[in-house]
Amino acid sequence: MSELLNFNYPPEPATERVTLFADVILPLPLPKLYTYRIPFEMNDDVLVGVRVIVQFGAKKVLSCIVADIHENAPPDYQAKYILDVLDDTPIVTAPQLRLFKWIADYYMCTLGEVINAALPSALKLSSESRIQLHPHYNPEEDELILAPQEEKIIFALQNNPALTFTEIATLLQGKSYHKYIKSLIQKEAIIIFEQISDKFAPKVVKKIRLTEHFVQEEGMLEELFNQLAPQPKQLDVLLSYLQKVPVHQDINLNYKGIEKSALTTNSHLSASSINTLVKKGVLEQFDQIVSRFPLDNEPKQLPMVLSEYQLKAKDEILGLFKEKDTVLLHGITGSGKTEVYIDLIKHALEGGGQILYLLPEIALTAQIVTRLIKVFGDKLGVYHSKFSDNERAEVWQGILAGRFQVVVGVRSAVFLPFHDLSLVIIDEEHEPSYKQYDPAPRYNARETALMMAHLQSAKTLLGSATPSIETYYNCQTNRWGLVNMHQRFGEAQLPETELVNIREEQLRKTMHSHFSGKLLTAMEERLQRNEQVILFQNRRGYAPFISCDECSWIPKCKNCAVSLSYHKYNNELRCHYCGYHEQMPHDCPACGATTLKSMGFGTEKVEDELKLLLPNAEVQRMDLDTTKKKNSYQQIIADFENGKTNVLVGTQMVTKGLDFENVSLVGILNADTIINFPDFRAHERAYQLFVQVSGRAGRKSKAGSVVIQTRDPQQPIFRKVIHNDYLGLYEHEIEERLRFSYPPFVRMIRITVKHADERTAENAAIVLAKDLTDRLGKQQVLGPEVPYIFRIRNMFLQEIHIKLPRENMNLKSAKGQIAQTIFNLKLMPDFKATRVVTDVDPA
Ligand code: ADP
Ligand code: ZN
Ligand code: ZN
Repeated sequence: MSELLNFNYPPEPATERVTLFADVILPLPLPKLYTYRIPFEMNDDVLVGVRVIVQFGAKKVLSCIVADIHENAPPDYQAKYILDVLDDTPIVTAPQLRLFKWIADYYMCTLGEVINAALPSALKLSSESRIQLHPHYNPEEDELILAPQEEKIIFALQNNPALTFTEIATLLQGKSYHKYIKSLIQKEAIIIFEQISDKFAPKVVKKIRLTEHFVQEEGMLEELFNQLAPQPKQLDVLLSYLQKVPVHQDINLNYKGIEKSALTTNSHLSASSINTLVKKGVLEQFDQIVSRFPLDNEPKQLPMVLSEYQLKAKDEILGLFKEKDTVLLHGITGSGKTEVYIDLIKHALEGGGQILYLLPEIALTAQIVTRLIKVFGDKLGVYHSKFSDNERAEVWQGILAGRFQVVVGVRSAVFLPFHDLSLVIIDEEHEPSYKQYDPAPRYNARETALMMAHLQSAKTLLGSATPSIETYYNCQTNRWGLVNMHQRFGEAQLPETELVNIREEQLRKTMHSHFSGKLLTAMEERLQRNEQVILFQNRRGYAPFISCDECSWIPKCKNCAVSLSYHKYNNELRCHYCGYHEQMPHDCPACGATTLKSMGFGTEKVEDELKLLLPNAEVQRMDLDTTKKKNSYQQIIADFENGKTNVLVGTQMVTKGLDFENVSLVGILNADTIINFPDFRAHERAYQLFVQVSGRAGRKSKAGSVVIQTRDPQQPIFRKVIHNDYLGLYEHEIEERLRFSYPPFVRMIRITVKHADERTAENAAIVLAKDLTDRLGKQQVLGPEVPYIFRIRNMFLQEIHIKLPRENMNLKSAKGQIAQTIFNLKLMPDFKATRVVTDVDPA
């Protein structure tokens, strides 16, 4: 038709063939972007934000993200061609690319490192990526129209469980193998995965339906009834199926069938009569891949009605948002901050934008997700680090497709492809775990989320019962808005806190190992009333070290300058820094005595002793060692929630965001090590930890109490905890920060120099510090000094701290200078093998 119409007109002039180039971000720590040439036929398909496949180096083939398209050939090298385009539409949005660039600049890393951290690996391909047959594709039965090359690949995959891209390239002896891989993915004949261990495992349900001819052909169904009449059980199955799937009303319903389990659960029907019907060919069984995030999640519950003070807080927040982009909600534990967030999210949803709700890893439990799903249904996406890679890719794609308008997620959710954010909530904003230590990008999700909100003109609400000093300072200086909630929801009161002097109890001989008489009595009382107890000890394992009574020998790690922790459950000595472990020796390797004693105590020992002290109590431990498996964390919480366990012992994991109504006592077993930690934030952290863990007690009607064990009850921090005196803490801390030049008055950058040889590490650090001092000034550079733990993983460490003034400082140029000094250092032959790690705003 169109050809006919065009016939009468002169042919259009051939469009000019422009030569285009694309700058791409390779998922590698490269200092700059590489430019590739776009083949003419792909000019329309290569867009900023799509993945393309390129060759990098002699052999490597990788997928990467297009960051820019232009007409400038690189001046210093011959651009290679892009091999293929993977996406029809961008999978990285424009505001996201701007954010990634900010992260790379601010945290002094490469864009490749950012992309690598950002993209779920299901969205990354490389020559090491592997493909396998789609679990639901059966080449013998399913008839697909395949090109000869595609057939060749399928044939090879029938004989090999998986093939790498490189192997497929060899198989086809040609370059354009991507085309066929892509086509086979689209036909759902193959899938790609990164490592064998992380095979794509789609979620599958077993379904059944009537075999087609019973539905399609007139009268067949009736005949079937007659046939089955002598077999009442099978007839029942048929009737029950027809009841749930009324095919006599609409034969198309049959195609979808129903889940097999839907027929057997809550019914007298047995799986065996269903199976018999399948064997007879009456029913057919089939598998269906389903989404991990069910789509039929209609909101089932309206949000709770806000109390008067919650409403007031909400109105104040909305009022402040008119003038300010960022507001802090300072609400005590149990004041119901979550309900206020939910209300604000609802409000923002009406405006149509996207919403990100950030939570620290550990607080993102089934508790909160269930609460949110009830209100937001299938608009809610969840992004969690315990999720498999495929689940993450599904959330990523779901945001792009507009399926998830609200996302609740952990730290790495700041990398998700939002393009139209209207509200960002950062709950528990004081949490140190928002900062990623290793590897690069060493970003803080709080700062990153604030920047993301800024780039998309969204509002940000931070929330905490114990705000970070930096955040509160921003409110005090009026840059950010501040809203307070000073009371707990409902009848609940803040718990009463009592200090126990361990020294005194030891003199009076009332200590039972690590439990004071006071704490033990309080526990017995509460348990008798069928209430629950949380115990906090900031150390996992059985004991932080062991020592020989005869000769004082202490086992140390082979690779690190730390003592080995004793883990009783597997009778092992273990390093918490590098993972090195060995069998616990029976006698002292130094003197042969059999008097090895464990010193200090960790959560495992607390659990162990409780079993003796309170034999009737069900005790559960929650720490890194008991929560390694995907669902163990959820399970421990569920058991405690359901009252299966009476006492929960744990590390910091028990302090965060949990909401149990039956907990009436919290015990802090050893407060002193937390307060005396050598760090300028130690007091802030101690206050936050104590108040947060205390906040788990008495959240509903039951009056709660907290017992803190210490050797130094005079320590001023306790008074502030007991009186919930956040302002007192803040005023004291901010004065110290000003006096000794710490954040928020300066920006800190920590540079760690690492080398296998102690002297080389030291010399390199001295050279680096000198160069930095020359460039940035004497006041700005501290060190080098040997950190508290001076050797980790066989590398000796040296640290330099840089303090940059907040005002009158060109941050970008200072960072440029730092990068340059590090670059220069590595050019020196002596220091080539030195590793230098830069951490901006170290936590
Ligand atoms: P926070 O995060 O401030 O510590 P939560 O949001 O967990 O506090 O709320 C504490 C408890 O009070 C929860 O059990 C919550 O369900 C309940 N709660 C808070 N606000 C309301 C409300 N408006 N209606 C009913 N229950 C509420
Ligand atoms: Zn000894
Ligand atoms: Zn070690």
